[in-house]
Amino acid sequence: MRKGYITFFTGAGVSAESGIPTFRGKEGLWRRYNPVDLATPEAFFRNPSLVWEFYNERRCNIAEAEPNRAHLLIAEAEKVFPLVSLITQNVDGLHQRAGSRNVIELHGNIWKVKCLSCGKEEMNFETPFNEIPPRCKDCDGLLRPGVVWFGESLPYEALELAYDIAKRSKVFIVVGTSCQVFPAAQLPFIAKEKGAEIIEINPEETPVSEIADMSIRKRATKGMEEVFEYLKEKYLS
Ligand code: NAD
Ligand code: ZN
Repeated sequence: MRKGYITFFTGAGVSAESGIPTFRGKEGLWRRYNPVDLATPEAFFRNPSLVWEFYNERRCNIAEAEPNRAHLLIAEAEKVFPLVSLITQNVDGLHQRAGSRNVIELHGNIWKVKCLSCGKEEMNFETPFNEIPPRCKDCDGLLRPGVVWFGESLPYEALELAYDIAKRSKVFIVVGTSCQVFPAAQLPFIAKEKGAEIIEINPEETPVSEIADMSIRKRATKGMEEVFEYLKEKYLS
């Protein structure tokens, strides 16, 4: 068996078939608000309740969703092939629910909350929240969602690890991301520069399409079936 270094790099499109809206898709994410205007520290300090309402609604939606076949096949790949990594921009936790371990989350997790007064961070699965904005049980401070907003840095360790993995990848599979949000969007280009084969699954063209060795213009579930077969052929036959 040839050594692998297979990397999956996912975005909102991988969860679309689970009923979770993407950000830039045709279907607007939330009423008349632009999520980009809500996903900033400034928006939060201006109106924490409004931002929390948005996250509360997303959390309720995600709690009802199930991982789809694309999440499941990515988790399965981890068991079947050597040296598989998963880097995600998603905050929904569906990869973990599908059975993926060691998920590198570049943009945090929607189930995490952080207290702005005492600094405590914890997982919180309350849906819906009793009180908006939610408050810290220990100190009554204001909680914020444990996600990375526009204008904030990505978690250092996760990003360093992602760069490192991108550089070592032999096959780098980009699933359901518009590749427009930096620095995450750089990863496929870094992998390409170091000689990885780039496979893209996305019904639409993206900046990655130009450097992709294989573009699968299908939805994530169908595309992942094809990629799984391709990897079996490449590594297991
Ligand atoms: P995106 O919405 O920008 O792109 C989704 C991509 O998925 C598109 O290219 C679309 O063609 C594709 N797609 C749609 N349905 C699909 C399917 N069934 N199968 C496969 N692909 C499908 O999402 P993104 O690329 O993940 O965005 C990057 C980051 O932007 C996000 O992780 C997020 O952190 C950030 N963002 C956050 C917020 C927020 O509210 N926190 C708002 C906007 C952007
Ligand atoms: Zn606190």
